[in-house]
Amino acid sequence: MCNIDILRHDFPILNKIVNDQPLIYLDSGATSQKPQCVIDSLNHFYTNSNSNVHRGIHTLGDQATTSYENTREKVAQFINAVPKEIVWTKGATESLNILAYGLSQSLKPRDIILISALEHHANIVPWQQVCAQTGAILKVIPLDETLQKITLSETFKLIDIYKPKIISLSHASNALGNIQPVKEIIEYSKKYQSITIIDGAQAFMHLRPDMKNLDCDFYVFSAHKALGPTGLGCLYGKYEVLNTLPVYQTGGEMIKTVSFEETIFSEAPSKFEAGTPNIAGVIAFGSAIDYLDKINFNAQLIYEKALFLSLRNQLENISGIKLYGDLDQNIGTISFNYKNEHPFDIATLLDQYGIAVRVGNHCTQPLMSSLNIEGTVRVSLAFYNTKTEIEVFIKHLKQCLSLLD
Ligand code: PMP
Repeated sequence: MCNIDILRHDFPILNKIVNDQPLIYLDSGATSQKPQCVIDSLNHFYTNSNSNVHRGIHTLGDQATTSYENTREKVAQFINAVPKEIVWTKGATESLNILAYGLSQSLKPRDIILISALEHHANIVPWQQVCAQTGAILKVIPLDETLQKITLSETFKLIDIYKPKIISLSHASNALGNIQPVKEIIEYSKKYQSITIIDGAQAFMHLRPDMKNLDCDFYVFSAHKALGPTGLGCLYGKYEVLNTLPVYQTGGEMIKTVSFEETIFSEAPSKFEAGTPNIAGVIAFGSAIDYLDKINFNAQLIYEKALFLSLRNQLENISGIKLYGDLDQNIGTISFNYKNEHPFDIATLLDQYGIAVRVGNHCTQPLMSSLNIEGTVRVSLAFYNTKTEIEVFIKHLKQCLSLLD
């Protein structure tokens, strides 16, 4: 990758002092930090071109519409899709809710929806609601006997037994970092024409998914976990499937014609974008995609892997630490516990050193139950972290643990 010290200057928050110490941000799984170009883009829009989209005959309105639609094109190119397959949403959560609502309209009692043991609540709760409303049944691919991951053999077996109507899986786990074998599962599920949904909230920035290669029906993600602003996400859908999906919200902007008697909706993607969208957010996300485009993806992968290995090795060498998850296929996120100490105590002590980690159940309570724990300390890396940060983190972690012993 390019010089990491130069790159870090692009992220103003990384120079911040927190609790009298230089910030060490190890919580990118919760939200990524933002490069200056994204911050500038938000500012620039409100200062120079603020206007609504798809309405204007005036210059500002035209400019806003062009920039807004340009980002749809950039995102489409980034994931090897076409712009009409990209729907703007509030985030991965809203994207999954749009899918749950839309797909529920054609489900029958006893139809099966299959998810995995590693799902975020956002990919569990909407399906539970759908089951309650339709009589469909939610089934779960369990962790294997090592409690580290799901296996393809068990997954294929369950797909053969259940012939699911819908399979909805995380591409990467937010709690454990596992990269799930979604490509193989998508391919296998074609045997039963299951609709495949991939929750890419964690994977998008680390794995840069290719829709043609994955060949899923739907893929969802949030901009804020990929250098972009909060309150914005994406729903990718293969056009034929997306365009026939019933809409979740109605109102202005998503229509062709309205009379008091009837309304004709427009085609996807606009039929899913009722109301005034997050225009500034979309345009700023375009800057985030430009930024990612400038980073060589192979170099990013190699760099993130080296960071992860260094973190993993040093954690493995601390006696009393237990690591969770699949440490071989991983986006750079490690969850751990120390002896019987409460993870909150560890994170609180680390915060005194300016170190930001996440602690708790990570919105994966069923996964934590499968692991027989209440929560973990989670370190989630991004390409703007450094080996030095990891060393400083390990040094202070050891100090914190010795206080708890
Ligand atoms: N899925 C996964 C795997 C996640 O990590 C998250 C966010 N933690 C979500 C879904 C929901 O994303 P958002 O809160 O941005 O809607």
